[in-house]
Amino acid sequence: MEIVLSKEAGFCFGVKRALKLTNQTLEKSRCNVYTLGPLIHNPQVIEDLKNKGILVAQGMDEIATGVVILRSHGVTPKLYQQILDSGLKMVDAVCPNVKRVQKLVSQLKQEGYTVVVVGEKNHPEVMSIPGIAEGATLVIENIEQAESFPRVERIGLVAQTTQTCEYFRKIASLLLHKTFELRAYHTICDAVERRQQDSRKIAQQVEMMLVVGGKNSANTSRLAQICAMSGCVTYHIETSSEIQPEWLKGIKKIGITAGASTPPWIIEGVVDRITGISR
Ligand code: SF4
Repeated sequence: MEIVLSKEAGFCFGVKRALKLTNQTLEKSRCNVYTLGPLIHNPQVIEDLKNKGILVAQGMDEIATGVVILRSHGVTPKLYQQILDSGLKMVDAVCPNVKRVQKLVSQLKQEGYTVVVVGEKNHPEVMSIPGIAEGATLVIENIEQAESFPRVERIGLVAQTTQTCEYFRKIASLLLHKTFELRAYHTICDAVERRQQDSRKIAQQVEMMLVVGGKNSANTSRLAQICAMSGCVTYHIETSSEIQPEWLKGIKKIGITAGASTPPWIIEGVVDRITGISR
């Protein structure tokens, strides 16, 4: 069986940076080291970090002393303020691309735009954007919401970093009819975009795609949608143990891609298992 592995599969720079900061903090600290929520969206990596000594807290009420690491997706402005007020040492592992979205939203608000984010309302990255909790920054989650958007003077538009360009363009073109001025920023992450393009290309050439990564990972789920929409049989798996040998019966060419938070050892495990089954 021929295996086509995406050259874009696996850790992006934001995830590598967050893991490096976390490991360095663990090495240096003589006290408890916490992340608020999971550092990245991959259960196996989180388990590994827990084994190394990282503690995952759900809120500041669970942390009395120690160091707090801000996760790659960011934290809500309210939580950020709580950490500052607590006086605890903070290590900022928020991805610079996510920070760029937060900064652009603040600027657009200051300039008087009605600010709209194309994304998932309950995703931590979107929740970290200023004004979301108060409803002062609006979220569009689907085409219907864009179609029924009220007419306003000026719209400032950004996207959650893991959206697809095609979808963002579609929403932007619908909103263009709802305002006199639309200022749209391309905030979709380069790493995400390259991975989506490469995965789509592979899905069009193979009989089956395996998309590897956390079931709670937005960018991995999006990859699975893209591959399935290319008409290719697609399975979203977290690890090689989920692969059913019957999936591979009669398959001559299989593609593998992986989300930005999927570690190399999990991708290698998937390749090894497919090779083993198809022998
Ligand atoms: S996928 Fe992009 S935005 Fe998300 S953590 Fe990685 S580099 Fe940052």
